[in-house]
Amino acid sequence: MKKSKSRKPVIGILPNIEIMDSQPFLGLEKTSLHQTYINSISKAGGIPVILPMVEDKASLEQQIGMVDGLLLSGGADIHPFLYGEDAHPDLGYVHLERDRFEIDSLLCAYKRKIPILGICRGIQLINVAFGGTLYQDLSHGDRSKKIKHSQEAKIYVPVHSVEIESDTLLHKIFGKRKLETNSFHHQAVRKVASGFIVSAVAKDGTIEGIEKPDYPFLVGVQWHPERMVGHHQDAVNLFEAFIKESCCVPRH
Ligand code: MN
Repeated sequence: MKKSKSRKPVIGILPNIEIMDSQPFLGLEKTSLHQTYINSISKAGGIPVILPMVEDKASLEQQIGMVDGLLLSGGADIHPFLYGEDAHPDLGYVHLERDRFEIDSLLCAYKRKIPILGICRGIQLINVAFGGTLYQDLSHGDRSKKIKHSQEAKIYVPVHSVEIESDTLLHKIFGKRKLETNSFHHQAVRKVASGFIVSAVAKDGTIEGIEKPDYPFLVGVQWHPERMVGHHQDAVNLFEAFIKESCCVPRH
């Protein structure tokens, strides 16, 4: 079916799940999402919708069936059981149910061949879902060159550069080989999932971008472009490319 030109693509965003740590709601789970994700999708021409964690698979599939693209947002660490490890003392907060829900949502979106963009935790989730592993903490990597990946500058201020690999989707989107990014992570991709390529690397060797070359748009970035929109055109370009690709998804 041909789509009307005026219809904007609907982008499902997988949100964060917080656990309230004080009375009167101690222990209550709360679904939340930073407004920057919503604004970035909206400004790039998409309709953002939050896809909450649901317990049954049929609801999950119907949620993914409603959207033209999927955005995996940032958040807590990923449970190391999902890549065959036990928890190291440097591991942060984990939420295994969220991890499983997101992996199932991602694989469902993948089956539908809709565009997928993973941000920060999102790149890590993509990698784990397809069989890759993570550094539970960046200090575990063998890095002779030190780079600060947990910035204390304003959220939109770049703190390190990444090298964009030639002939990748990221290269096509940004049109250059060097990009300056913000950084808010203590974990990173370790072994890259089979079928994926590395498309951005920091100077200390940290993998900051991956993509799947045989898929229309399956990209993960370790930085937070949604916090840079409004200050850096590169960030806008990434969201616009994602939305443009989501326009091409046929409706069922
Ligand atoms: Mn970084």
